[in-house]
Amino acid sequence: MSVNKKTHVVIVGGGFGGVRSALLLSNHPDLFDITLISKLTYLIYYPTLFHTAIGQRSSMTSIKLSDIFKNRKVKVIEGEATSFDRSNQTLLLSDNTNLQYDKLILAMGEVTNYFGIEGLDKYSYSVKSEKEVLTYNHHLHDYLIQNGEPDKNYFVVGAGPTGIELASRLPGYIHYLMKIHGIKRRAVHVELVEARERLLPNFDRNFSRQISRRLSILGVNIKLNSAVTSLSDSQLFINNQAFDSKTVVWTAGVSTNPFYKNNNFVMTKRGKVSVDVYLQAEDNVYVIGDNANTPYSGLAQTALNDGKFVAKNLVRWKKNKYLKPYQPKIPFSVIPVGKRWAATIYKNVVIFGFFSSILRELGDLDGYLKLLPFGSALKFWFRSFKGEPKHCHRCQIKS
Ligand SMILES: Cc1cc2nc3c(=O)[nH]c(=O)nc-3n(C[C@H](O)[C@H](O)[C@H](O)COP(=O)(O)OP(=O)(O)OC[C@H]3O[C@@H](n4cnc5c(N)ncnc54)[C@H](O)[C@@H]3O)c2cc1C
Repeated sequence: MSVNKKTHVVIVGGGFGGVRSALLLSNHPDLFDITLISKLTYLIYYPTLFHTAIGQRSSMTSIKLSDIFKNRKVKVIEGEATSFDRSNQTLLLSDNTNLQYDKLILAMGEVTNYFGIEGLDKYSYSVKSEKEVLTYNHHLHDYLIQNGEPDKNYFVVGAGPTGIELASRLPGYIHYLMKIHGIKRRAVHVELVEARERLLPNFDRNFSRQISRRLSILGVNIKLNSAVTSLSDSQLFINNQAFDSKTVVWTAGVSTNPFYKNNNFVMTKRGKVSVDVYLQAEDNVYVIGDNANTPYSGLAQTALNDGKFVAKNLVRWKKNKYLKPYQPKIPFSVIPVGKRWAATIYKNVVIFGFFSSILRELGDLDGYLKLLPFGSALKFWFRSFKGEPKHCHRCQIKS
């Protein structure tokens, strides 16, 4: 293909990786025509999604693609990619539309995986989309109001960053709901369930220990070496022992978007797509973000970096410059545990406490700035500082 004519780049996925690559490519309208296909008309800013679970506003989590690409030459198509024809370089959408591409960037994120455990798909709550998180939040509220007391146990399965962050806020949130609805204060049993022998086993031992301590202070009980074996409408089975609960949220499993297996991509043992040093899975097809087999995939920061890397290399290619190889960036991990306390780890530096929670807020600002113009990024960021609502978000009772 001639490098002189405009290159049509088709991007699949309106999440962190896809949007970042589209934004950076759109700085070069003379070099590229850009089409972005996404199932959703908005980007889910996952790091703040759990706020919705505890009754806070969802308005800082969904960022409309039309706002992101305002005044940008990016054609956004709402649709679902189902397959592609490698030899003719065409992508097929579920409505049978065919799209020709010169370069294809795939950034389709992960899907929930229940590992075939009985009952999870039917009875557990999930926190992978705004709709799912709202359903969970409504259940927390409605159960309490209908029964006049909290559930016997609130289970959060999976002690990764998402499970920890969510579990840490639950006791406070359930107490808040009891208070504003005039329900007699009772103990709230929040159980964080993990199949492995400690929290966050990929992190330093002291890091896990400090987080465990903080969770205990907040009233979260941690069950380690505990594998969920099944779930019914009222009982969770852990190592085949039954525990009463109607409130089980599953954060323990995700897997790569099935598009790749369905389209015969080379997958690694980690279940990710095999890519070369340019993040190419095959000629003219790039795979980035959660889907790529890179050391730190599974994080928004990595997806943003990958989107930037591929976009910049495409610009270099157009300008006949040498292509840079991919350099994985060590992520800056900040895990909030309750309000105004977080644990940060970056290389050998570990910070706990209030200052860490400020770092987390700044990290979110950085994320918004990478996706939105300055003014809009600030607007989204400031929304996260609005305190607890004065009315119950569900039934409008005043606190
Ligand atoms: C609850 C939660 C909290 C998180 N918190 C953090 C955090 O605090 N910090 C952090 O760094 N990371 C966090 N992550 C991880 C982070 O969100 C992901 O690593 C990041 O979203 C990956 O970006 P991506 O572009 O690869 O995929 P995504 O952002 O998931 O975007 C994928 C997009 O592709 C679309 N899509 C999927 N299939 C198709 C198809 N067939 N056709 C068209 N479009 C399709 C989807 O609708 C979606 O818009 C969190 C994740 C979750 C679930």
